[in-house]
Amino acid sequence: MSYRPNVTNVTKAGSNEKDGLYEFIVKLADGTECRVFYNREPEWQLTNISRLQKTPCPVCRKDFICKCMDQFSGDIASQIEAGQWFDKALAQ
Ligand SMILES: [Zn+2]
Repeated sequence: MSYRPNVTNVTKAGSNEKDGLYEFIVKLADGTECRVFYNREPEWQLTNISRLQKTPCPVCRKDFICKCMDQFSGDIASQIEAGQWFDKALAQ
């Protein structure tokens, strides 16, 4: 398992602020884009991640749906938190 995602940008794609639900598009350094869902109640928690099928999967090289990014959700979530991307994405 040599792949390591590197978060380079996060944008808000949608939200239901009443319920604390957010959808973000995460861009990775290798061009991969993922859709991630978060629930911020009681604290930011990544609940789902899926790769946008714009580019082949960087792990398995499929250009259709796969679950590879699931195993990197923890790494991506910690990068989003460390980079304070919530504040940046929500300020847009
Ligand atoms: Zn894959």
